Order: sequence, then structure tokens, then C-alpha cells
Amino acid sequence: MRNDTHDPGLQSWVSSANAAGCDFPIQNLPFGVFSPPAAADWRIGVAIGSAVLDLRAAVGRGVFSGLAWQALCEDSLNAYMALGPAQWSQVRAELSQGLRAGGAGQRHLEPCLMAQAAVRLRLPARIGDYSDFFTSIHHATRVGQLLRPESPLLPNYKWLPIAYHGRASSVVVSGTPVARPCGQIASRGATEPGFGPSQRLDYELELAAYVGPGNALGSAVPIAQAEQHVFGLCLLNDWSARDIQAWEYQPLGPFLAKSFATSVSPWIVSLEALEPYRCPWSRPTGDPRPLPYLDEPSLAERGAIDIRLGVWLHTRRLREEGRAAVLLSQSNYRDAYWCLAQMVAHQTVSGCNLCPGDLLATGTQSGPSREEGGCLLELTQGGKHPIVLPNGEERRFLEDGDQVTLGAWCEGPGAARIGFGSCVGSVLAARGP
Ligand code: CA
Repeated sequence: MRNDTHDPGLQSWVSSANAAGCDFPIQNLPFGVFSPPAAADWRIGVAIGSAVLDLRAAVGRGVFSGLAWQALCEDSLNAYMALGPAQWSQVRAELSQGLRAGGAGQRHLEPCLMAQAAVRLRLPARIGDYSDFFTSIHHATRVGQLLRPESPLLPNYKWLPIAYHGRASSVVVSGTPVARPCGQIASRGATEPGFGPSQRLDYELELAAYVGPGNALGSAVPIAQAEQHVFGLCLLNDWSARDIQAWEYQPLGPFLAKSFATSVSPWIVSLEALEPYRCPWSRPTGDPRPLPYLDEPSLAERGAIDIRLGVWLHTRRLREEGRAAVLLSQSNYRDAYWCLAQMVAHQTVSGCNLCPGDLLATGTQSGPSREEGGCLLELTQGGKHPIVLPNGEERRFLEDGDQVTLGAWCEGPGAARIGFGSCVGSVLAARGP
């Protein structure tokens, strides 16, 4: 529920946090893991304006104390994620107090600040398992139209949030370059595959949830409690080799086409920070009601979240010419057909156990109109209609040297604008077999 940490009038003594359009004002307070300049160790920090607050240093100075703060002195967020919403909310209230303009916190916390530009960031948690869902019906329909024009949406889509188990070992933090994968590729009409670098490399614009407290093997998380198991959200780019995918995906789903790299943004925005942007979740008239384990009265009021999403492309030539990155598309997470609580309830309903730090991605977030496609496969209709960039370059799929940036933010009346930062990755040439 909303509380005084969401007050849009709050200002911080960290002046960069008060700038218009800043992703990390005092109403946000996202968590990440960083290494200070010239240090070899890793610490948990909170982004505030253009700075990061070193929580271990703050605890060391006696500013904060207690069990939750001890968990925040570790080098990953897993132990803190396991604590649950009551502890997270208490920590958020204390951080908000300490960073407020005019409070006593400035004198004690100012020595614990450093510039984000000066630190290294890494994955904020040890990710034991990673699942990728398929929650945008607009993405599912448009991709389905390319594969099966006569029946784009498979019969199970409106009944369950489809997902596959991804590969946790190749989840990388924003800024990590991504090498073009090689694999088996069967060109159209060919009876035998060839082998080589993917010619149809794509990005996917997604959000992902980090799991908070886990559930015991054999137990299911009821949908009414599902969000208590979600620590927060980040951006996720599910890099995809469409040609490798097309040959390998039947009958067991994607494998090598997805597992070569998955990029995530370094800062985790808590569900509590997103509270002012909760919005109704609904089903189009005539669509089936979800089965009882996927349905809950509060979804109609606040099941969805109004998060604006965008993708920008900066090609090597655009950079050499000194031109800005080009906005390829925008969409909104509130358009997802399946919401966060349904993802958690569904993944655990068989008795599958989730663990703190597990990652549940939403799948490509595309909006209702064609321009709102969250990947090139949709925007270029399978490569048939290239995107023409302002310098005359064309893109059907990604080329070596291309840099893809995902962004997300929330804004609206009566609440402070908050952002997710960015998730960036550049494509390197294939390393070869
Ligand atoms: Ca995906």
C-alpha cells in the first residue's frame, strides 16, 4: 500500500536525485551490487540520483542496524531477498528517512556515497534458476501469424501462462558484450541444415522478477500470496537467434537459440516502489476466466503495473557519425495478458519450488499495435520489411557492432516518476565453431 515513501513532494539531500527525469529519485531506492573504485570486493548499494549509497559502509558507521541490515552487508542480495515484504518495507522506510532533505541522515550517510559512474556493477543476486514466460498476447499473436497464419494463437494460450526453463548460467549484467552465436541453420525449403553464425539475431524487450522468499518443494504458492514472493523487477533482454530457433524449437522449445546470453539491468526496483503505478488487470470480453488457482479478486483492481518500456538501437555507423541512438519501439507492461501474480502461482502449482534470487521473465512485451512490437521479428515481420534508420541504414536483424538499449520508467499524475536505468548490450562478431 502507499505510504509516505511514495510522497511525490519528497526531496533528497542528494541533489542529483531531485532532477527532472531522473530514474532514481528518493521515491525509487532500487538495489544493486557494486564494487567501489580501486576495491576488489562487492557490496550492496542503493541507487540515489547519480550516486550509489554503500550499505555496508552505512551499517559500519552505525547508521542502520538489525537483522535485515546484516543481510545487506553481504555481497549479493539473496539473503535479503529471502526476508520478505515486512522487512523490505521497514528498510525502505529507514532509507527514505536517511536520504530526505533536511533530515539528520546527511551528516552520517554522505561519506557512504560514491558516483555510479565510478563503480563496477554486477548481477545483484546469485540466480539459481531462470524461467521465461510468454505473457504478451500481442507478441504471441504476431509471432504466431508468421509461423502459422491460419491459427496464430495455440489453444492453451488463454488458459495458462506459457513458459520454458531458461539457462541461468548465461544471464549477464548490462554492459556485457554478446557474441553472435553459431549453430545449425536450415534455410527455407532445405532438407538438411548448414552450420554457421546466426544471420537472424534479435533482441527481446522484457521485464523480469527476482523471487523473494521461496516455497518448499511440493507446496504451491496461492495466488493471493504470490506477490509476497516477488522482491522486485528489472529489465531483461532475451537475445534470440531466430534461424537457430526455427530449426531446433520443435517439439521441446528453444534451447541454443536463447541460452548464449540474457542481459539484465543492474538495479532492482522493488514492488513497493511500483505501488503508485498499480492498475487494473482484466480480460477481453468473451475470453475465458482463468482457472481458480490463477484468479483472485484483487487482480481486477491492481493486478497489472503501468510500466513504460522502450528499445533503442545505436549502430556502429550511427555512433561514428555522432548521431543519437534510434528509438525502435515503445510498449507498456500493463498490456500483458498474464500478470506477475499469475506467473508465480502457475510456476509453483505443480509443487515446483522457487528460491530467493530466481529470475522469472515476462516474455517479450509488445503492445496492441504493430509499431509496439518488442523484437525485430515483429517489427520487420520476419525480416520482410526492414527498418530504415535516419542515416539510410537498414535493419532486418541485428548486425555486428549494433548496441541495443532497453529502458523502462513509470510516470503519471500524483506520483513521482521513477525509472529502471537501462539494459545495454553490444553485438560482437561470431567467434566461430
Ligand atoms: Ca523471451
